[in-house]
Amino acid sequence: MMEQRFRAISESQNRPQIPVKEQEKRSEMFATKVFNADRMLQFLTKDALESVRSAIFSGSKIDRKMADQIAEAMKTWAISIGATHYTHWFQPLTGSTAEKHDAFFDLLPDGKALEKFGGRQLVQQEPDASSFPSGGIRNTFEARGYTAWDPTSPAFVYDSTLCIPTIFVSYTGEALDNKAPLLRALSAIDEAATAVAKYFDKNVSKVNATLGWEQEYFLLDKALADSRIDITLTGRTLIGRSAAKGQQLGDHYFGVIPSRALGFMKDLERECIQLGIPVKTRHNEVAPNQFELAPVFEEANLAVDHNQLLMDIMNKMADKHNFRVLFHEKPFAGINGSGKHNNWSLATDSGVNLLSPGSTPMKNLQFLTFFITTIKAVDTYEELIGAAIASASNDERLGEYEAPPAIFSVFVGSQLSHVLDELEGVSKGKLSPEEKTELKLNVVGKIPEILLDNTDRNRTSPFAFTGNKFEMRGVGAKTNCAKPMTILNTIVAKQLRDFKKEVDGLIDKKNLKKDEAIFNVLREYIKTSKRIRFDGDGYGDTWQKEARRRKLSHNANTPNALKIMTSKESLALFKDLGVMSEKELTARQDVEFEAYVRHLQIEGRVLGELVYNHIIPAAIEYQNTLIKNVLGLKDIYGAAHKSLSDGQSGIIEKIAESLVSLKKNSDAMVDARIKANKIKENQKKAIAYCDNVKPYFDNIRIQCDILEQLVDDRIWPLTKYRELLFIR
Ligand code: ADP
Ligand code: MG
Repeated sequence: MMEQRFRAISESQNRPQIPVKEQEKRSEMFATKVFNADRMLQFLTKDALESVRSAIFSGSKIDRKMADQIAEAMKTWAISIGATHYTHWFQPLTGSTAEKHDAFFDLLPDGKALEKFGGRQLVQQEPDASSFPSGGIRNTFEARGYTAWDPTSPAFVYDSTLCIPTIFVSYTGEALDNKAPLLRALSAIDEAATAVAKYFDKNVSKVNATLGWEQEYFLLDKALADSRIDITLTGRTLIGRSAAKGQQLGDHYFGVIPSRALGFMKDLERECIQLGIPVKTRHNEVAPNQFELAPVFEEANLAVDHNQLLMDIMNKMADKHNFRVLFHEKPFAGINGSGKHNNWSLATDSGVNLLSPGSTPMKNLQFLTFFITTIKAVDTYEELIGAAIASASNDERLGEYEAPPAIFSVFVGSQLSHVLDELEGVSKGKLSPEEKTELKLNVVGKIPEILLDNTDRNRTSPFAFTGNKFEMRGVGAKTNCAKPMTILNTIVAKQLRDFKKEVDGLIDKKNLKKDEAIFNVLREYIKTSKRIRFDGDGYGDTWQKEARRRKLSHNANTPNALKIMTSKESLALFKDLGVMSEKELTARQDVEFEAYVRHLQIEGRVLGELVYNHIIPAAIEYQNTLIKNVLGLKDIYGAAHKSLSDGQSGIIEKIAESLVSLKKNSDAMVDARIKANKIKENQKKAIAYCDNVKPYFDNIRIQCDILEQLVDDRIWPLTKYRELLFIR
């Protein structure tokens, strides 16, 4: 191991530059590997094109004959750009993507070879995917699960394989993936938001949720990353003393991108552009070796697929450039972790951003309607959002180093706070003509058209309004965006539905004018959702106390955060909106509990191995050197020599102290694990891991880090933070 560390350092320092040329115009390369609208126009018959279009727009079914035609066209196109295989590409509950490649190649009974791909293979497949987590929905003896084509996300050719985005459902129709519920949630928000948008524009016939994610990640030299088993097996460092210089000087953020990293980014972005991922922004993040990539936003389903695909491409491209990319939310203690901000908004089919203030009072009323309804939804279901972003790894990130806390709140900025306060004062029922004029001219009419709130550098807000969209900042870097997007769109859909009912009720029963009714409902929403608005510092005791007073939830760990998923209210919500059944939710929650346990189990075992097989032996080896030295000194100078009291023997004792504590804590951790492993039920097991096993991790880490400081650098077995963290 020790040698491995030094071999890795030398390898990392002698990397040849990998030449990367970027000559083509991006606009010309864009989506050349995607079977998008342009390709369809070129390769499909008019009828086939029409049936795909109506499937995308209104969810209509594609019949078998059409499917055959579309499959034939896709095959011809894919082969023309080098594809040899096809796969249904799906997103099981593991959080990553899955694929099983089949060759187009086939044999006829007479032995003749040909390339085959028909409508049946395009539309539905039954992969033998019985090992994916299903939370008990599928028993292995009836392990049937189907992947079904999702025509709203275009097929693409990646690595010589035609990839067909699909959903993954059980034989009995339950969702086994992250995409099926997302599509249902998107359809719910479409319906609810379209109905409300019609108050302002009769011609609106569809509303899309939009998502622009910002992906943060760490890049490590491959040899260095691979020299540590914690990084290879858990994606993060479980121990390791902070480097003397971390991010204190703020010199990495937006700094010059190291040339090796830039080479990787150029290669990566080229591939992304060809695959239709509209990547736009790249920059250094706050921590050393940390970077961010952001695209132009897209329709949410497509954006989710693109983010999943991106992470896959990044892993492969990193390998080519002798890097490892880490998506773990907290790979290193003492510096920033990685998140994936989800920027979200709603757009009509005519391209109007419903969360963007306009130039007229009516447009602003539309903006206020969607803005306030969203805040109200978040207030009602804040705890559910917490559940959507909870994971063992994100627990490590939330609440420190620029990550928002686990308490959910909404930042709206001072300008809009002021508008909301004024609206709150609107009188009940009918409005006098003067009041209407006042409202239109001086409140609603005064919202500036361009409201991009540059003042929001308060990174501790978990849900901030940033001028024309909300930005969800608690999402972890590893998380599949489908999870938070499913929740957010579901809760806003629910609130918009309620809003419509209430407004229509006031119009019908109280004889109010439309805008009066809208003002009335919005006023109540502002009043009742006040507690969720918070523009201050999200860290520290003051906010925790205040949040408790406001009765906001604070679930600081995953097992607690997940509980809400199956509360009576949650079950009713998802059922009402047609997003998930009780069976699906319960299964999903169970999968999450189990994933939490598995992660901690692996971390505990890796930590045990590090302690017993690497750290303790190295510490003893150094201690022995010191003992030999002390004995030698004693021989020469006698027992009175000061090395025996203040010098080397002091270090011997410090090492001994750490060793004792290390052994005690590690043994206790193993015992706690054995005990927890005996628990059958996943939820209880997760709680046991959280409460009884995990606390030892910190104690063990402290002792390891003390030893790292004491022991001779030449025999320290693990690659150190300062060696891992500063690529050039
Ligand atoms: P910051 O780093 O300050 O949060 P960026 O400019 O890096 O901001 O990121 C903004 C993100 O918001 C981009 O990914 C962009 O595509 C996305 N975005 C902009 N407008 C919308 C919108 N209407 N809907 C969804 N996402 C949006
Ligand atoms: Mg952001």
